[in-house]
Amino acid sequence: MKTTLKEYKIKDICEGFVYNELEAKGLFGLSGTLTIQPEYQRHYIYADGKKDVAVIESLLRGYPIGLIYFNKIGEDKLEVLDGQQRITSIGRYVQEKFAIKDENGMPQNFTSLSQDKQKQIMDTTLLIYECEGKEDEIKEWFKTINIVGVPLNEQELLNAIYSGEFVTLAKEEFSNSQNSNTQKWSAYIKGNANRQEFLAEALEWVSKKEVGDYMSKHRKDKNIDQLKNYFSSVIDWVSQTFIDVEKEMKGLEWGRLYEEYHKKGYDPKKVSEVVQKLYADSCVENKKGIFEYVLGGEKNTKLLTIRIFSEAVKNSVYASQVAEAEKTGVSNCSHCAIGHDTNKNKIWRLDEMDADHVGAWSKGGKTDISNCEMLCKTHNRAKGNK
Ligand SMILES: [Zn+2]
Repeated sequence: MKTTLKEYKIKDICEGFVYNELEAKGLFGLSGTLTIQPEYQRHYIYADGKKDVAVIESLLRGYPIGLIYFNKIGEDKLEVLDGQQRITSIGRYVQEKFAIKDENGMPQNFTSLSQDKQKQIMDTTLLIYECEGKEDEIKEWFKTINIVGVPLNEQELLNAIYSGEFVTLAKEEFSNSQNSNTQKWSAYIKGNANRQEFLAEALEWVSKKEVGDYMSKHRKDKNIDQLKNYFSSVIDWVSQTFIDVEKEMKGLEWGRLYEEYHKKGYDPKKVSEVVQKLYADSCVENKKGIFEYVLGGEKNTKLLTIRIFSEAVKNSVYASQVAEAEKTGVSNCSHCAIGHDTNKNKIWRLDEMDADHVGAWSKGGKTDISNCEMLCKTHNRAKGNK
């Protein structure tokens, strides 16, 4: 069986579109050369005001509507193998068989759209695989992609769309479970080679998350040097900066962290000590945040999600502060008590106060009752911003 990736514009597909209301089938397109719903295909089932509308809204937002497959059954004769529901929806919309709703909920049929939007729909390019082969071959393959097979993931689709020498080489390197490097990569990247997840990550790093653009630009390249070198630089940098491998390192945004921090120098031994200390600290709830926290110079404690005081601790501290306040006749917020405004004598309710670390966690303060003070929300916030 032979497959060729082709691009068709919607205006060409819709040329000569015929829909048969009686049979509920989209019949023809592409100036009569395309049979949309051949005999053996099910009827058009997207006319529910949701699925058909979703197809048109996707086009207007520039979202892909997925791959479409044609079966080439003769010179200038094509049949839709997969995609007849989508194509029929588009044809029916363009022929004003249904309307979508605009942002104000007003119905919009095709000709009531602005010229720009009409043009946008008509000029949208659809990626279409044309298959040629024996009927049973094609049916077998169709069954594999649709029923038996696991649905293609995003990277697998991109590989299909941008197939060529570049993708072949990239898969040889990154999607090859025989490559002895995959074990090392697994420490930092989630997923596995067979499902293209290392390749997806490598492309995401080198392209700064513009994977489709990158693949399109490099589609005809005869080598993958840039992709490979960039990927190695990131992996080398991580493994040299953090000498211990922790399970929380897997799946972090190493590409972004590399871009942000690789120009700074680190002492791997010191880094290791800090990481180990943070791992041992029970106040650090988000272990995944440790690496970026250390790279950033141990400043952004938000990354670590420091454990907060328990309700029991807060209740107990609150009760003793209230008792003390009632004895001395000043506010139960120590900051209010030393102020000169009307809150000087105010006894705040528990729900008007927040717990504060007296000695900051980052300076060694513990999250236990000896280091807990209740402050009114205003003062707690003011202190937190310092
Ligand atoms: Zn206060």
